[in-house]
Amino acid sequence: MTVGNAPGPLAKGRPAPRVLLVDLDDTLYRVHQIPAIVKQRIQEYMVKKLGIPQDEVAAKTTELYLAYGTTLAGLVATGYRIDYDDWHEFVHQGALDYDTLLQPDPSLRDILCSIDLPKYILTNANRVHTERALARMGLSDCFQGMFYFENVMELAASHGFDVAHGVLCKPNPRIYQLVAEQLGVGLSEIIFFDDSTRNVASAHGLGCMTVLVGSDKPCPGADLSLPTMHDLPAAMPELLDQPGLVHEHHSSIPGMAQEQHAALAVPTAVGGAAAGSCNGSGIAVSVPAS
Ligand SMILES: [Mg+2]
Repeated sequence: MTVGNAPGPLAKGRPAPRVLLVDLDDTLYRVHQIPAIVKQRIQEYMVKKLGIPQDEVAAKTTELYLAYGTTLAGLVATGYRIDYDDWHEFVHQGALDYDTLLQPDPSLRDILCSIDLPKYILTNANRVHTERALARMGLSDCFQGMFYFENVMELAASHGFDVAHGVLCKPNPRIYQLVAEQLGVGLSEIIFFDDSTRNVASAHGLGCMTVLVGSDKPCPGADLSLPTMHDLPAAMPELLDQPGLVHEHHSSIPGMAQEQHAALAVPTAVGGAAAGSCNGSGIAVSVPAS
């Protein structure tokens, strides 16, 4: 079964997926106040700290976002020198009341835990925002690792990207290439989830399987469209219901002893499938520390 586009990402003829790469904001959750607050804070930063006239910031924000991937990337590319920690503090963690805006999402946790593939966050946001959001939603241990602003920039710098004059972020194709290389998988072995059509299209153009989250309409560049991540089990049951894989969350098979559950675990292509662990089947990966 697929939603939106056919065939689905796991259609025959495609390489078996080895890694899930998942965006954070507006993908793992959707709370309309958050992007509104962030956008307002970005514009406040541009006025207060960069001296951009108030009547220019709205248009400039959109223009830079569209041209460079994020407003921050656009500001840096057009010559502004920005303290990245100060920026992220101002627009994200210093502006968002995570406990009020976000809620635990045990059903999404259950879905993620039911997918016996390594899962990684790929976000343009910074580490603190990512960690706080995941912690509030109860999803922190659903992922083997995270690619966020700071460690993506370190990764980029180590591969010759001029981080003094540019920000590497989605939808720049280079970010997907670096992440795949870091994870030791081919781009066609990645399933990438994002709410941005251009992020999805960019990854799709490189050969990733792509899922657009936040829409039920077919989208160029998306192999699949999902209204929310909660629709994943119905849309891609094959991703969750892999025979022989064992999960702590779903270990109550009547009449079966726990040892038998463990015996059902089969190695994945990239490592052992660890029974009873939400994030236990990861690829050994060394993402640069932030
Ligand atoms: Mg997003």
